[in-house]
Amino acid sequence: MTTGSTKRRILTGDTPTGRLHLGHYVGSLENRIRLQDEYDCYFLLANMHAYTTRADKAAEIRRDTIEIVKDWLAAGIDPARATIVLQTEVPAIAELTWFFAMLVPFNRVMRNPTLKTEIESKGLGDTYSFGFPMYAVGQCADILAFRPDLVPVGEDQVAHIEMCREIARRFNQVYCGVDPHAEDAEHEKLGGVFPIPAPLIGRVGRLVGTDGNQKMSKSLDNAIFLSATPKQVKKKVGAIYPGQSRDPDQPGDPDINPVFQFADVFIKDEAFVAELKERYRKGDNLGDGHVKAYVIDAINELLEPMRARRAEFEKPGGDDLVMDVIRTGTRKANAVAEQTLAMAKERMGLNFGTRAEMLG
Ligand code: ATP
Ligand code: MG
Repeated sequence: MTTGSTKRRILTGDTPTGRLHLGHYVGSLENRIRLQDEYDCYFLLANMHAYTTRADKAAEIRRDTIEIVKDWLAAGIDPARATIVLQTEVPAIAELTWFFAMLVPFNRVMRNPTLKTEIESKGLGDTYSFGFPMYAVGQCADILAFRPDLVPVGEDQVAHIEMCREIARRFNQVYCGVDPHAEDAEHEKLGGVFPIPAPLIGRVGRLVGTDGNQKMSKSLDNAIFLSATPKQVKKKVGAIYPGQSRDPDQPGDPDINPVFQFADVFIKDEAFVAELKERYRKGDNLGDGHVKAYVIDAINELLEPMRARRAEFEKPGGDDLVMDVIRTGTRKANAVAEQTLAMAKERMGLNFGTRAEMLG
């Protein structure tokens, strides 16, 4: 069974470990919304991966899963054009994870810089679950199950996508006879099951958090959420430490002030931002509070249409609507992922019977 689409594919997703924030928007969501007509898009709710750090918080994961769909729809993802996929209901992903885990050395996984950063920034110490590093391999299966060309992500995911590309090449070489010197773009033509997908980094690869230091992250309490009220936006932006202490009539350095990173990203009028920076440098009666006020307005301008769309899902019955979107999308996604798994198993000599035959 195929989806019948001849468009090239996109796969990306988010982990339901909290609500979506401005970093997600500029890092990945903006690209997803822009490309949802041009590509056959699959957006994954990586709820299995949420269990890697919070296995004891099942109710929260369920809630966040639903809320992330609302964030997506509010931001402009259209379920009539894009497919929303629930990871735990796509069994092919879990099966591919096992096979892929055998194609990558253990030490290669543990050397992954994104995993190392996460272990440190999330304070996981040395007591993280066995499944935690496994998610990096699982993510390769998330992606490759859909055989996509493009994966729109933030900068922190590049290391993961690199591993995914390595696993795809290895599978194609080991099981499909693709020459180890073949160009990435040639793999499918040469009989490989998997394309070698490329990351697509957003307009801002790494948006800083309100702590002015770490990347904005839903797990680090430094995020401005897409669902924030105007009051919450004001409070969060107001709390950003400007990196220096100065009077409005003393020269300052906008380059070390994280408030200006937000100004660069969210204020549309570039000439106006350049002028603000110039005045800040001169100490021309421009305090951090003034700059923050412009940033607050710009963020609210971005969030206002999302608030209006979100109101539709906050009405009674909103969760049912989300459930429908999840079920319809996941059914469509399973058709693609099952086809991929069957292709992979066939090349591995594991074509003993179809899923339907074996489940009886
Ligand atoms: P967690 O803290 O649970 O890891 P997160 O905030 O890092 O959450 P993810 O679900 O891991 O969010 O990431 C989803 C997508 O958003 C990824 O493509 C990631 O690269 C991107 N992303 C996350 N944070 C940022 C950020 N601050 N700037 C740009 N892109 C981001
Ligand atoms: Mg993350």
